[in-house]
Amino acid sequence: MNDEETVPLLPRDCWNWVWKLKIPANVQFFLWQVMHLAIPTRTILNHRGIPSDSICPICDNELETLIHCLFNCNRAKAIWNLMVGPSFGLPEEDSLIFTWSHDSVDKLGIVIPITMWSIWCARNAKVFDDINMPLMATLSKIKVMTHNVTQAFNSMHKEITHIQPKLISWQKGHLDSYILNVDGSAQTNPGMAGFGGLIRDFDGQFMCGFHGNIGYSNILHAEILALMHGIQICCDEGLRDIICYTDSMHTIHLVQYADVSTHHYENKIAIIRKYMAKDWTFQLCHTLREGNMCADFLAKLGTRSTSDLLIVLNPPA
Ligand SMILES: [Zn+2]
Repeated sequence: MNDEETVPLLPRDCWNWVWKLKIPANVQFFLWQVMHLAIPTRTILNHRGIPSDSICPICDNELETLIHCLFNCNRAKAIWNLMVGPSFGLPEEDSLIFTWSHDSVDKLGIVIPITMWSIWCARNAKVFDDINMPLMATLSKIKVMTHNVTQAFNSMHKEITHIQPKLISWQKGHLDSYILNVDGSAQTNPGMAGFGGLIRDFDGQFMCGFHGNIGYSNILHAEILALMHGIQICCDEGLRDIICYTDSMHTIHLVQYADVSTHHYENKIAIIRKYMAKDWTFQLCHTLREGNMCADFLAKLGTRSTSDLLIVLNPPA
């Protein structure tokens, strides 16, 4: 077995250190997924009943398990060797991931999740765009990202405390700003479809998530419903300053610019527009698929769910 179902049940606060790491929220969520053995490697997809070639797309030689993909594949091993040195032990089986991640971050800090994340991005570049990321490019990405993330979190804190010294409670939310990520998913297009999303405060703390199943439909419908439910939930929660990210340019175009008077989803787009026109700040922005992984994860839960809409009040643990 090689799935999140094999993760032992741990007290919810076992994950708190992940949500407190000063790294971008998508990397935080990725780390959380890794520790739940839930990133969609080919063997994990197979285990979930999604037919897929199980061989590693990088070395074309071994089964793509999570451990193989992130640690044992020759390319991954070379990256870890150069980043943390050959004597730094790497996990050799799935059951060791939780302890290894915790202990390694304790010793070496954010370079650990950033290295895992960059190996995964290079793997996805190969799978989805057939790009062979050179080893040096991945290494330099890890170094630059580690540097930039450290700087950004430090300077963000300095900037805020400099400009608004009274904002002692800034870490609980910057001027009540919130980030909403939404995504739609369909097992095939058209096919069994669902949507999902999550709201975090400006500091990356999870506020709530949601997902739902829409039956047999298409990806655009799922993307539109993700945004519609996301914006409704933000409004119901009384939030007043939202930046919303979607990876669907099509949805942004329909909602912001298009004449949709004869569009199949006219009613849903009208609901979204009505909410956007309310007396609040709601910015709709595009993000790349990689930047929207947490919402994507929830949307995929939606495709397998039996519920029209489920609100999740704690980060799934
Ligand atoms: Zn491999």
